[in-house]
Amino acid sequence: MGWGMKWGGAQRAPKAEERTEPTLSRPAPTASAAAAARRATPTATALQPPVPETSWNARVFEHIEWRRFEAVCEGLFAQSGMRAETQSHGADGGVDIWLWSQFSDKPVIVQCKHWKKRVVGVKELREFYGVLKSHDLTYGTFATSSTFSQDALAFAKDNRINAQDREGLLRLIAGRAQDQQSALLRTAYEGEYWKPTCVKCGVKMVLREKRDGSSSFWGCANYGKTRCTNMMRLG
Ligand SMILES: [Zn+2]
Repeated sequence: MGWGMKWGGAQRAPKAEERTEPTLSRPAPTASAAAAARRATPTATALQPPVPETSWNARVFEHIEWRRFEAVCEGLFAQSGMRAETQSHGADGGVDIWLWSQFSDKPVIVQCKHWKKRVVGVKELREFYGVLKSHDLTYGTFATSSTFSQDALAFAKDNRINAQDREGLLRLIAGRAQDQQSALLRTAYEGEYWKPTCVKCGVKMVLREKRDGSSSFWGCANYGKTRCTNMMRLG
């Protein structure tokens, strides 16, 4: 659901800023937010949600956080008739999605790595193979928004791991029916898609400033409640 739905359904007198920009499908940025965006600091970029793509391409993966990427992968596999179960946060033991097919009593496990630039190496594939063996399973899929190194791909092939990189996932998505592609795009851009989720608590993180005000970082929104000190760098 986008901003447009919320706005379109409102039964009230429009505010001044809505009257001046009647065709805007999302709220106009405030003057201070626009000024911050012009400065283009990492903080300003983090505060400004990237404008959603209208069709699938590699930029979608750059716009969204890891949890949305996982949700897209889950939706993609569910579309092929598998029942998908996701563990949204907490200790996943190396499994992000469990896929159940009606043709087998053993699940396929999926690990998702939402990396923007870092290449997935053979180390990650070996670890995933260890997870497969620990569950006494044969089939696993390793999905990434990045790419695999050559030795990682060779290892995946030798061990029957289905390795899907950015291009592979985009090809799979392109093979879906138009309404399925649209559904996956809506999943990608659901909610505050650009804000990272705390891997420990499953809640969205919030922008915090270092005590000396020199820079900002993403901190867990639960910090005050649970003292969760999980943090992420911007960008
Ligand atoms: Zn947390």
